[in-house]
Amino acid sequence: MSKIQMTTPLVEMDGDEMTRILWQMIKDELLSPFIDLNTEYYDLGLEYRNETNDQVTIDAAEATMKYKVAVKCATITPNAARMDEYHLKEMYKSPNGTIRAMLDGTVFRAPIVVKGIEPCVRNWKKPITLARHAYGDVYKNTEMVIPGPGKVELVYTAEDGTEKRELVHNFAGPGIAQGMHNLDESISSFAKSCFNYALDTKQDLWFATKDTISKKYDHTFKDIFQEVYEKEYKERFEAAGITYFYTLIDDAVARVMKAEGGFIWACKNYDGDVMSDMVSSAFGSLAMMTSVLVSPHGYFEYEAAHGTVQRHYYKHLKGEETSTNSVATIFAWTGALRKRGELDGNQELMAFADKLETATIATIERGKMTKDLALITTIENPTVLNSREFILAVKENL
Ligand code: NAP
Ligand code: MG
Repeated sequence: MSKIQMTTPLVEMDGDEMTRILWQMIKDELLSPFIDLNTEYYDLGLEYRNETNDQVTIDAAEATMKYKVAVKCATITPNAARMDEYHLKEMYKSPNGTIRAMLDGTVFRAPIVVKGIEPCVRNWKKPITLARHAYGDVYKNTEMVIPGPGKVELVYTAEDGTEKRELVHNFAGPGIAQGMHNLDESISSFAKSCFNYALDTKQDLWFATKDTISKKYDHTFKDIFQEVYEKEYKERFEAAGITYFYTLIDDAVARVMKAEGGFIWACKNYDGDVMSDMVSSAFGSLAMMTSVLVSPHGYFEYEAAHGTVQRHYYKHLKGEETSTNSVATIFAWTGALRKRGELDGNQELMAFADKLETATIATIERGKMTKDLALITTIENPTVLNSREFILAVKENL
């Protein structure tokens, strides 16, 4: 059998700990035997990030701008403990944060739906993809503890020195106050990423804010989405047979619980933080969530939603057996390979991505899975496989 050829490189970002081990196994067993893998490799493992003063992360993001499609392994975000563990020169920022800031993207998270791993919400039949705005609001706020009576105001000083003031509150006693902001440009690029992704995946798009209460702040989000939709997307949505639906956030939450899924739910930053954990845990397992960063400039970066699975890695280092779920990492690769194929008009590569996904899902549906899934499956007497055995079982089905 001749291997599938790739005409354009895929940006490959390697990572850390247990997911780095899975990464190599996936390449060796599921990809390289079938594809003449053409990747531009960047080692985002913490050791090499430290060696290059994190320049490798910037280089990887720049390569993504050049080639448009990237696949990323989970990476360590350093904290105090990691400073000692890896003898770091400094506490580097999260690679995901650095890459997101450079590509200006929105992260879409979607569960991989498998028979036998049933969502807690009975009527959810199809995946719900969550899109979270990644800039501003309460995450870039300024807070103040108000010690006693006095006036709190919002003051805007224009470049020419003129001022605009709004009273926040006339305090009669102690309290608290907070100022937050967002940018039209960021909201508009968030909207475009969402509309593009809806077209790309042929799913309806829902968006919600609290514009009835927040008549300027949240209303601006609503207005920008509507304006972008009408100007650039309405016709394409109609042609694709999908809809854009705006409602209030509390109404959206109620409707999501009663819906059957199969749509994208765009959320403001805080709503997305809270709702993505609810949606992912209700769908069963963090190890079954995919994540893709979509930039309004047409760059895509695929990864698993979970981290480096540190606890399993320490077991692995001690020579103990691990049963780490590689499904979301496999789907990161298939997502990236399919997109590469789509951009290059490479039908064979796209078909391979479909087949690998089908083989992965079939492996679980036939009762072979890692321990995390065995604990929650409705399939009777599942076979629990270790990390490597699961990948080999997928290979056999493939
Ligand atoms: P984690 O790696 O997601 O793992 C947390 C726990 O979830 C694991 O201990 C395991 O539970 C379970 N789990 C997650 N993925 C699994 C999988 N594929 N198969 C089986 N079980 C899985 O989160 P963490 O331990 O909090 O973070 C570890 C490191 O990852 C940190 O350094 C963090 O900075 C990094 N991180 C990176 C990313 C990213 O690159 N996108 C995202 C999040 C975190 P049990 O131990 O109970 O089996
Ligand atoms: Mg959170």
